[in-house]
Amino acid sequence: VESEKIAVSFSGKRCIHSRNCVLGNPHVFVPNAPGEWIHPEAASVEQVVALAENCPSGAITYVRKDGGPQENPPVVNTVRLRENGPLAVHAEIV
Ligand code: SF4
Repeated sequence: VESEKIAVSFSGKRCIHSRNCVLGNPHVFVPNAPGEWIHPEAASVEQVVALAENCPSGAITYVRKDGGPQENPPVVNTVRLRENGPLAVHAEIV
């Protein structure tokens, strides 16, 4: 989904339904919408970037179209044990 300043992608295969996105800004990621549920034009580019980077599964990614910094892998790779066992990996990894 594209706005003038940013393109946002969503991968349903990766989503773990933590709801960080819809709880973070329900105007950008609209919960239970019957149709289009991603509206990057509803917030500033910086807010949309912060929402995307707060997605724990990597299901939400973005490409900025305003000349701002693109999404980059972290400088330090981390693996965290989350509640009830899943591992949260933050790294450039295949
Ligand atoms: S924040 Fe990411 S993992 Fe969580 S519900 Fe939204 S898309 Fe899915």
